[in-house]
Amino acid sequence: MRKPIIAGNWKMYKTLSEATDFIKALKPLVADVHDTGIVICAPYPVLKDIADEAADSNIEIGAENLFWEDEGAFTGEVSGPMLLAVGCRYVIIGHSERRQYFGETDETVNKKLFAAIKHTLLPIICVGETLEQREKNETFKVIEKQIKDGTKGLGAGDWGKVVIAYEPVWAIGTGKTATPEQAQEVHAYIRKLLPKDIANDIRILYGGSVKPDNIKELMAKPDIDGGLVGGASLKVDSFVKLIKH
Ligand code: PEP
Repeated sequence: MRKPIIAGNWKMYKTLSEATDFIKALKPLVADVHDTGIVICAPYPVLKDIADEAADSNIEIGAENLFWEDEGAFTGEVSGPMLLAVGCRYVIIGHSERRQYFGETDETVNKKLFAAIKHTLLPIICVGETLEQREKNETFKVIEKQIKDGTKGLGAGDWGKVVIAYEPVWAIGTGKTATPEQAQEVHAYIRKLLPKDIANDIRILYGGSVKPDNIKELMAKPDIDGGLVGGASLKVDSFVKLIKH
């Protein structure tokens, strides 16, 4: 049985007080939730404070990125040990906005994946096709390359730590959600690419304009194990509705 996860991706939103107020408000509203993992992935400056605020709760904290070296002359970067030390449990790797604006590739995703695992952070690896690729019928080819190259060399014992997020680029922040059938088709395809002995244990989240009014039908699909949510994770009430769908 795969325990679903609803993970918020705050992107570059929320100052320190906004972030801690959110966690304070969220905690009592989800204290009774045991069947769903609740994760908030947030910008670096607020991680320590929201992790402290969430420490006695069922809310887990993640970062939105990391660098693959442990330390060194890499101005502006943040490492696995640093994230671990401030209370992070998860880290998003290869979000399409990082691929699009910051030059991330399947090779950098792979290095970051190994860094996360080395430091016991649970990686949420993002994959997804652009609209152009979908229209050219390249979706499966693109996803296969992202999964294979992104997870290259991953040992059998480490696959169980991985969470995958299928996020069609054309659905992120656009209000256009993949239909549950479109999402299910790709999720099932991804599962077939995973090592057979563990494929049924790995959580595959859907991301792309997930909202309280479409979560239920997405979650009803057999290979959709939760959501990675941008916009609708920024307000406590809509995030709670997603968790309690
Ligand atoms: C995301 O940030 O990963 C995302 C899916 O954003 P949104 O829910 O706003 O489309």
